Amino acid sequence: MSEPNTFPSVSQSDIVKSSRFWKEDGDFVLVAKNEAFKVHYDRISTPKIRGLPYDITLEPSFGQRVARLPSEVDPADFTIFLEHLYREIDETQLTESASLDRLCALIRVSSDGQLQDPDVYASARSDLEQSLKPDAIGSLEENYIGNAEDILSVVLHYDITSLRKRLLYTVSTTSHFDSGPSSHPSLSTSTTTLLASLQDNLISHFTPILFTVATASHMACTDVFAEKWMPLVIGPALETSGLCRPVETLRGIQEIEWEKEGVCEECCKEKREEWEGEIRVIWEKVDGWI
Ligand SMILES: [Zn+2]
Repeated sequence: MSEPNTFPSVSQSDIVKSSRFWKEDGDFVLVAKNEAFKVHYDRISTPKIRGLPYDITLEPSFGQRVARLPSEVDPADFTIFLEHLYREIDETQLTESASLDRLCALIRVSSDGQLQDPDVYASARSDLEQSLKPDAIGSLEENYIGNAEDILSVVLHYDITSLRKRLLYTVSTTSHFDSGPSSHPSLSTSTTTLLASLQDNLISHFTPILFTVATASHMACTDVFAEKWMPLVIGPALETSGLCRPVETLRGIQEIEWEKEGVCEECCKEKREEWEGEIRVIWEKVDGWI
């Protein structure tokens, strides 16, 4: 070995050693794309990983086995897979969003097209489903929105149907989609087209609802809505792209302290139930739009 960070005995000169997995007492080198990992054969060759090994060759300069992983295996995903096998990360200490990234990586790398580890695949997939509450209505929680496009691509690629609706809704209501060149590298063109059309449908359905002032059973309560609808509902909704996020905007309208504005309790209760009904109608309509 000449340079500490190069891997000269493999023909491509651009191959680098993993900074994370280069076990000095390892006896087996795995290459994912342009990154080499030195590991322990016993640890990695469990019978469940059916995708291993590939094209084992003996590298004379190392005196050890070297195998190239399928070309689909991403080095970053493989690093997470090794951390998982070696139990090197305390997964309970991770932030929720970091742990979702790891679950997506484990699903990809353990899938049939890659390393074929059915146990890791099944458990990562079930953990992802449980973390994201498939039965909830509306967008994912705020702290997951940054991961949503990646998760959506995993959900669509691996056909995790229980999460499909919530993820499509989340991505379509928190990002912009048009027919131009995709600025969403993890999503296919057909997916961005679907997201754009979902966005259009949500906006067309919700526009008349948002711009129609609520009416109540009592004239005095209706007057309050008439006076406050613009400053408390329409104004804030327009400032926060609320028109594109109907479920969340309706929840916000429910949470306004209408009692303090002068609406009687009976009308408040009635209207909040009505808005809850609107939320359910929208959520059912999404099925027809995806
Ligand atoms: Zn009233």
